[in-house]
Amino acid sequence: ETALKRPSRMALVSEQGGFDTDWQLSLHSSLDHAIAHQHIYLLFQPQCLLESGHVVGAEALVRWKHPQRGEISPSDFIPFIEKAGRLKPLTAHTLRLAARSANVALNAGARISVNISATLLAEHDFVSLICDNIAAGGGRPQAITIEITETAKIEDFRTAARNLERLQEKGFHVSLDDFGTGEANLSLLVGLPCDEIKIDRSFVALAQHNERARIVIRALNDTARKAGMRLVAEGIETETEQDLLISLGCVIGQGFLYGRPMRISELLSMLDVRESCEPRKLTLY
Ligand code: C2E
Ligand code: MG
Ligand code: MG
Ligand code: MG
Repeated sequence: ETALKRPSRMALVSEQGGFDTDWQLSLHSSLDHAIAHQHIYLLFQPQCLLESGHVVGAEALVRWKHPQRGEISPSDFIPFIEKAGRLKPLTAHTLRLAARSANVALNAGARISVNISATLLAEHDFVSLICDNIAAGGGRPQAITIEITETAKIEDFRTAARNLERLQEKGFHVSLDDFGTGEANLSLLVGLPCDEIKIDRSFVALAQHNERARIVIRALNDTARKAGMRLVAEGIETETEQDLLISLGCVIGQGFLYGRPMRISELLSMLDVRESCEPRKLTLY
């Protein structure tokens, strides 16, 4: 019953996209097949130093190439996979895929961020879900940032905090995604161990017209710096936005201005990877 209960956003999806919803409800039954046939894959979006454009990281974003429907975006299939209780096998797969590219990226000075839905945070095997799959993909924890998304769904705050701390002890970085929206709020920033916050793109878009948005972004930069965290500005689309963010103290950004989500080969060419050389002496951001 619960697995098949239609979530409210489905009405929205069918209005906007004209999708019928039955195929979405049946997605979970084709997950194993899709994984086995490489229909589920990652694209990577660069994260850059705003001043120089130098790439210091990349966010892995999952895609599903559906035989009938073409490329489906995560917002259109993750809610259904989650409802069906299949989020763990999907996450295990994306972690392995990300791990395969992470070491070579790290050698060029870039960490790979992987989105992890906060619903998994309080699972008893959360830490081994992350560690085992990153190890299975041959990745080093130091090469990976765990980006906690959908933070509204954190159920057990204390368990979540303890699990994230254990990941940090193993060398992973932890990031709070979409900061400033919904439940991604100050109590998370204060209560959860993290190395990075990502300001949501709605703030970036607002900043040009809204004095208080600018004040908040500047204050978040101060907070991050004093707390020893990185701050990443999301969804930068124009040079005007970029220049404004620089003036507000932002150092790192991600958005269409620097690159759309792309294949790993394209990302590596942006990174100027020389696999045969010794890893360069790196300043990691
Ligand atoms: P997110 O983590 O906030 O990822 C950023 C989203 O914004 C991506 O959409 C990206 O393509 C889009 N974006 C990046 N730059 C710009 C820009 O300049 N302008 C605009 N308008 N959009 C931009 P995408 O790939 O469709 O992903 C949507 C969401 O799905 C992600 O939001 C994330 O919450 C979730 N997601 C993606 N991959 C995974 C995954 O492997 N696991 C889980 N649990 N969630 C994932
Ligand atoms: Mg993200
Ligand atoms: Mg985000
Ligand atoms: Mg988002």
